[in-house]
Formats: sequence, structure tokens, C-alpha cells
Amino acid sequence: MEERLKPMDAEQLRESAHRMVDFIADYYKSIESFPVLSQVEPGYLRKLLPDSAPDHPESLQQVLEDVQAKILPGVTHWQSPNYFAYYPSNSSIAGFMGEMLSAGLNIVGFSWITSPAATELEIIVLDWLAKLLNLPDDFLSTGPGGGVIQGTASEAVLVVLLAARDKFLSRIGKSSLDKLVVYSSDQTHSALQKACQIGGIYPENCRVLKTDASTNYALSPDLLNEVISQDISTGLVPFLLCATVGTTSSTAVDPLPALATVAKRNGMWFHIDAAYAGSACICPEYRPYIDGVEEADSFNMNAHKWFLTNFDCSALWIKDRKALIQALSTNPEFLKNKASQANMVVDYRDWQIPLGRRFRSLKLWMVLRLYGVQNLQQYIRNHIELARQFEDLVIQDPRFEVVTPRIFSLVCFRLLSPDNDGDKGNKLNRDLLDTVNSTGKIFISHTVSSLGYIHLTLCSWGSIDRRETC
Ligand SMILES: *Cc1c(COP(=O)(O)O)cnc(C)c1O
Repeated sequence: MEERLKPMDAEQLRESAHRMVDFIADYYKSIESFPVLSQVEPGYLRKLLPDSAPDHPESLQQVLEDVQAKILPGVTHWQSPNYFAYYPSNSSIAGFMGEMLSAGLNIVGFSWITSPAATELEIIVLDWLAKLLNLPDDFLSTGPGGGVIQGTASEAVLVVLLAARDKFLSRIGKSSLDKLVVYSSDQTHSALQKACQIGGIYPENCRVLKTDASTNYALSPDLLNEVISQDISTGLVPFLLCATVGTTSSTAVDPLPALATVAKRNGMWFHIDAAYAGSACICPEYRPYIDGVEEADSFNMNAHKWFLTNFDCSALWIKDRKALIQALSTNPEFLKNKASQANMVVDYRDWQIPLGRRFRSLKLWMVLRLYGVQNLQQYIRNHIELARQFEDLVIQDPRFEVVTPRIFSLVCFRLLSPDNDGDKGNKLNRDLLDTVNSTGKIFISHTVSSLGYIHLTLCSWGSIDRRETC
């Protein structure tokens, strides 16, 4: 007999969701029994699952059995205490519950009217976080600026680039797109390059300035000045400077105050990408790393990296929200409503690429409330201390060297090649990386310096910490 689909049955939800929570809790309990880096071969899953969707419903039990037997082997366990690769993607019970509530309410908060609480909580929580980071008042919602939650740092830099682009084009004319120049360093995240591609910036106008070990891979204001002068002399228009606090390969910190001066003198938009390291700046002793943010036009940090907020939650602040809205707003009839028309509310659809948006502020709010600032600071300090201890071990071992000074919780190190041969050294380190990761006991990642040397990186202490603190 054909089963009729019923609306959401609260009792069935209660029972199923309890079972799912049990499943996830058991997963966390046994997480160390899995190889942390999935060891499956490409295409493994197609052999295990049927060719098409079932005609008739299956039971949750059957699905969960498949998750256990077929899905988990293909999972790399980001939340395992043995996961040290890339950057942290911390979860927490607080963040998890916020996600759950967001999924449960399942609102689509594109305009204020579609769920006033979603817009208003996002404004409040981003003001809280801005104050915690001691960002300048210009980034608060009470002035002409404000904060918005984007999915990722990549989306943040894209919307910033579009806002800056259109601000300039409205002044110099749309036909001058081919004159706009973007500046960053060779350590800047590839998200900026992607934003340039999407934003129509001419590839030959993307300046990727060289860095080297003498400045610990930070962008040189002198070099920037030089290149800008050359560009201006050939009739080009410098419009966007992207600096990074905590670069992806070595957590380099670009010298913000000096860069801000250059950006200001040339009337450019100054964006700071602190996707990973921004979280550390809630501790007063690390806050100096973003000194200079006072002069920035926009600032971004990923709460989903090192701030216990389950993926995804990237906080972006901007000083001139009008620039963002001008680049991204549309006003179709079906979205018109009194509150929006009267300009009394924020409509976050005009601050982002998609129309629809999730109630992501809930999880950030829960993290801030259920931990409290002091615990969050302690959490950051603990990770940095763990990294320092690991760095000490590396320093004490004559077979290894620390490649760049450790600033936050990322340690860059490598095996020394016995006869100082670069190629041999690279092979040695690649072999070590593959050997370590193939054991499934821990997962670490690598990068290559501008000198062509591979080094290994250890980060992501979050899951160890979570085991101790919550
Ligand atoms: C992680 C990271 C990014 C990219 O983050 P997404 O949120 O995945 O787009 C960009 N910049 C820096 C400095 C990062 O650490």
C-alpha cells in the first residue's frame, strides 16, 4: 500500500533525532578508532551503493548501518584529536546545538521580514564579536558600517572586491574596468585570485608581490609603494590592497599600519584577511597583530576555524555598508515590503551573493554565551601553548629544523637533508609526510616555500582541547 506523506510529526522527530544524537555521540566516543585520514581509493563508494534511489522508504536503522559501514570509512576525521592538518575547523557542543536549532527552525532569512530575529541577532552578535576583537567603532552596526556572516572567507573577499570595484567604477566610469589593479603578496590565499576572476579584474592587473624569508614572508610596504608608482605612471588605477594576518603557508603577518598608510595615500580600499588568526586577537596579548585595522575598510575572520563555531561561519565587517549594498542589491517586486521600503531595517540579501541565507548567528551566539569570553581566550592560549611545546620538541631534535618563526598555533618544520641538498631534502620530507599520513594515526599537511622547499605543518589542536574542556 502506498504510504501517505505526513507533515513533520513531532514525536517521530523526537525519536529519530534522539537516535541521531546517540549516533553522533557514539561517533565522538570512538573517533580515535578510525584512521584519521580516510584510506579509501577514489570511486570506492559507487561500488557500495545502488545505482538509483529507492522507490520505497527505508528505515533510519538501515541508513545508519550504511553510514557506519560505508560512509565513515570515507570520512577524514577533522574532529579527531589526531588531526593536525591545514587549519583547525573546530566544533563544539555549543556550535553543534546552534547548528541543530538553525536546522530545526529552517528559516531563510534573506530580508528582515523573513525572520526579524535572524537579522537582528546577526547584527548584535557581530557587534559583540567586533568589541571582543577591539575593532574600531566604524565597524559596528551603529555607524555607517556593520558586520555580516558569510559562508567562507572566499565569499567575504569576493563581496569586498565587488564593493570596492563598483565604488571605483562609479567614479572613473564603467569602461575603466581594465585599469583597476589589485595588490597582494605571493602568500595571500588563492581566494583573492578567484575573486578577481569572478569580478572581471584583468589578470594582468593582479599584482602578486614577492615575499621572502628575510621578512618572514610578510608583504613589504616599500615594494608595494614602488609597484603602485609604476602602475600609476602607466595610467592604471590601484583600487584594492589585500593584507593577511596569518597566511596559509606560514602564518605570516603583513605589517598593517605601514600598508594602511600606502593604501590611504593612494585612495585604495584596504581589506584584511585574518581568516585563521583573527580568533587569537580576542586575547589582549595577540591583539597587536591586528593593530592597523583602524585604517582598514574591511576585516574578515572565520569563526568556523578557530572559534569553536561549527562550519560555516565567516565574519566580515565593513566600514561603508553602502558600498556593499550598492554592488549587490536588487529590488524585485516580490521582495518589496514596508520595513525594507522605509529603510528601517537591514536586509542581508544585499550584503552577499545568494538570496537565501541560514540562521548562522545562532551558533555563534551560543558559542559566545555557553563558553564566555574568558574560556574562549583560555582555549586559544592553550592551543598556542601546545604548538609551542611541539616547536620545542622539534628544536631539540637535530634531525629537524623549524622553518619560520611560530606566531600562533601553526608550526612549520622539516627534516634536514644530511648534505644540504635541496632536492634530496624535499624527497625526504615528502616521504615522511606520506609515511606518517598512511599510518592513519595522525594527519599533517605540507606546503612549499617561495624558495621551493617543502615543509610540513602542524596545526589544529582544537580537538585535543575539546576532549579536555567540554
Ligand atoms: C582558510 C583561509 C582562507 C579561506 O577560507 P574559506 O573560508 O575556506 O574560504 C582564506 N584566507 C586565509 C588567511 C585562510 O586562513
